[in-house]
Amino acid sequence: MEAFQTVRKQIISLLCDEELTPLDISQLVHIPEKDVADHLVHINRSLGSQGKKLQIEPYSCMSCGYKFKKRDRLDRPGRYPQCKSGHIRLASYRIL
Ligand SMILES: [Zn+2]
Repeated sequence: MEAFQTVRKQIISLLCDEELTPLDISQLVHIPEKDVADHLVHINRSLGSQGKKLQIEPYSCMSCGYKFKKRDRLDRPGRYPQCKSGHIRLASYRIL
């Protein structure tokens, strides 16, 4: 649990300074990209009591611009609901 707390503090500190993608966060904090979403969910919950907010620019489709806004989870979408081509633009996060 202590390791988790440390990682989350590092992520919060980074996101207070700049906007980052899950890939950026995984590289800066040295955790797998797939673990970033889970940390962000917990961070998002804990921020409320500090009067801060996790601002999310959602994953989007680079072909049609579709934004994956309604996802409850913060991990990378697996497929496109709107079109089958193109690439997913990574989500980015910032704490304000
Ligand atoms: Zn699309």
